[in-house]
Amino acid sequence: MKTPDHRGIGMTSPRTRLRMVDKLRQEGIRDEAVLGVMADIPRHIFVDEALAHRAYENVALPLGFGQTISQPYIVGRMTELVRSGQALDKVLEIGTGCAYQTCILSKLAREVYSIERISGLLDKARQHLRELRIMNVRLKHGDGHLGIPEAAPFDAIMMTAAASHVPQPLLDQLKIGGKLVLPLGTQDQYLYMIERTTEGFTETKLEAVKFVPLLSGTA
Ligand code: SAH
Repeated sequence: MKTPDHRGIGMTSPRTRLRMVDKLRQEGIRDEAVLGVMADIPRHIFVDEALAHRAYENVALPLGFGQTISQPYIVGRMTELVRSGQALDKVLEIGTGCAYQTCILSKLAREVYSIERISGLLDKARQHLRELRIMNVRLKHGDGHLGIPEAAPFDAIMMTAAASHVPQPLLDQLKIGGKLVLPLGTQDQYLYMIERTTEGFTETKLEAVKFVPLLSGTA
C-alpha cells in the first residue's frame, strides 16, 4: 500500500491528472477516449515513490534497468494513432516496461498482448496490472522482434523502443487495415505509422521522437 498522500490530494491527485490531460489537449491530442483513460489511470503508481510527485509532468522518467516510462504526450499520441478513433479488438505492444502504456491500451482494446525482454520489468508490470485489477492483458517474456505469431493477427501493434528497421514478423502479424506505430532510427528517430492495405503497406513519417533502443534477445 502507498501512503495516503499518494492517493489523496497533492501532486498525485485526480485533479493533477486532469491538469495533465488538459495540457495534452492543448498540445494536440484530440481523441477524447484516449484522454479519458489517461485521466483515469494513476501514472504515479508506475514510477518510483521518490519520483511520484513528478508523475504528471510531461517528462519521461526512469523505471529501473536503464529504461524509461515514456512522457505522457507520446503515450497519448501513439495511442491516438493506433486507435484511429475506433475501439480495438486485439493489440500487441512491444516493450512493456512498467506497463503504463499497456494499461492505457487495456481500456481501449478487448485484449492486449505485451512483450518485454527484461524479466525484472515484467515482475513490476505484473504487480501494476494486479493493483489496477486489469484482466485483459497477457504479458510475454521474449524478444519483440518476433511478435507473437500464435496470437496474430492484430488490429494494431505499438512499439515503445526504437528499432533500426521494421521487423518483418510484425508486418506479417498485422490484420488488413491494421496499424503498426513505432519509432525508427538510431541517432535521429522518427515516429512512423505503417498501415496494411489489401495491396500492401503504406508508410507515414511523423514527428521526431526519443526512445530507448529495441535490443535483441532477452535479459
Ligand atoms: N511502454 C513502456 C516504455 C518502456 S521503455 C512504459 O510505458 O513503461 C521500452 C521498453 O522496451 C523497455 O522496457 C525495454 O526493456 C523494452 N525492449 C527493448 N527491446 C525489446 C525487445 N526486443 N523486445 C521486447 N522489449 C524490448
